[in-house]
Amino acid sequence: MTTAKRSVPFFNYKVFQNKYGDRLNRVIQDVISRGAFILQKDVEEFEQKMASYIGVKHAIGVANCTDGLEIALMAAGIQRGDEVILPSHTFIATAAAVKTVGAEPVLVECGSDHLMDPKSFENAMTKKTRAVIPVQLNGRTCDMDAILSIAEKYHLIVVEDAAQALGSMYKNKKAGSFGLAAAFSFYPAKILGCLGDGGMVMTNHDAMADKIYRLHEHGRSQAGDINCWGRNSRLDNLQAAILNEIWQDHESIITRRREIAVLYQERLGDLKQLHLPPAPQLDFNHFDVYQNYEIEAGNRDALQMYLKEQGIGTLQQWNGKAIHQHENLGFDTVKLPMTDKMTSRYLMIPINMSLTNDDVEYVCEKIRFFYKNSI
Ligand SMILES: *Cc1c(COP(=O)(O)O)cnc(C)c1O
Repeated sequence: MTTAKRSVPFFNYKVFQNKYGDRLNRVIQDVISRGAFILQKDVEEFEQKMASYIGVKHAIGVANCTDGLEIALMAAGIQRGDEVILPSHTFIATAAAVKTVGAEPVLVECGSDHLMDPKSFENAMTKKTRAVIPVQLNGRTCDMDAILSIAEKYHLIVVEDAAQALGSMYKNKKAGSFGLAAAFSFYPAKILGCLGDGGMVMTNHDAMADKIYRLHEHGRSQAGDINCWGRNSRLDNLQAAILNEIWQDHESIITRRREIAVLYQERLGDLKQLHLPPAPQLDFNHFDVYQNYEIEAGNRDALQMYLKEQGIGTLQQWNGKAIHQHENLGFDTVKLPMTDKMTSRYLMIPINMSLTNDDVEYVCEKIRFFYKNSI
């Protein structure tokens, strides 16, 4: 049985437009009519929603997640001479934030779920290590018991990169609530995306919240007094208003992503050439929201090309490279064989809100056909 050829793009911005166009036009008109552009009630409302949803005391909207990580590290006092441990399998922004505050990113391996490997983290400890950034990648939260106990043992600051993990949980606690601070992204292709850039920093710590607020708003406190240098990295009120609107769909977005992950598991789980992400409902410690569905695949490049010919969009995350594999960034002597092996096999197959069950079936059918004919 073969289905007629169809087009399954990796991410379909047009479907997003059709689904939200009218709703968002109303929101935009409303913001314009109120002339409410900078630090207005929509930002405040969205910050409160985020704080109560994640279960932390403070949420501060920022211009993007990269700024959020940088501001969180700065507020935590990370500076020149410090080392910060993070997985090499992450977006360059995680390491760039460390560099920007003057510290050195130290890259470590990921485990079979593609998240930071706690053993590799502990092995990378030196006298200079001051902080760790667990990256809650692909909508999954790291094994935070292991990471927090190592961090505690060596008195490290924990800042979570939760850019890909809004709604993800470990032992019923949300990503973004474990560290001294955490940062989220609302980049359009993220689980909750706005119409441009946006981010949020979370913390339970009052003094940290004050520092973060000042750093993102020219050194000013909420009352307006200045007692330190700051910068401008605010979440636009218009983006906050848009996020408040899309927020209404957040739970159903997660439900749908998990449904798609179940379908992939059911249809592809038996293929020995593939290594799939952890299945939903299999491990009760984790609640994954599937920002990405990142598989490992034998004969990956040929599979990707074949799927492209069949109209199916796939992506290698970070353009196929872990951070230590980039030249000229200072990681020439770094050896991470597990990550090297993983990046030679990894591939993200479509998972998004415009995907129908028939699309998923088509993707699975083509992958199965590829392996049936390649052995
Ligand atoms: C998207 C992303 C970021 C950066 O988010 P921006 O809002 O684009 O700055 C950081 N880390 C990870 C893991 C990401 O996926």
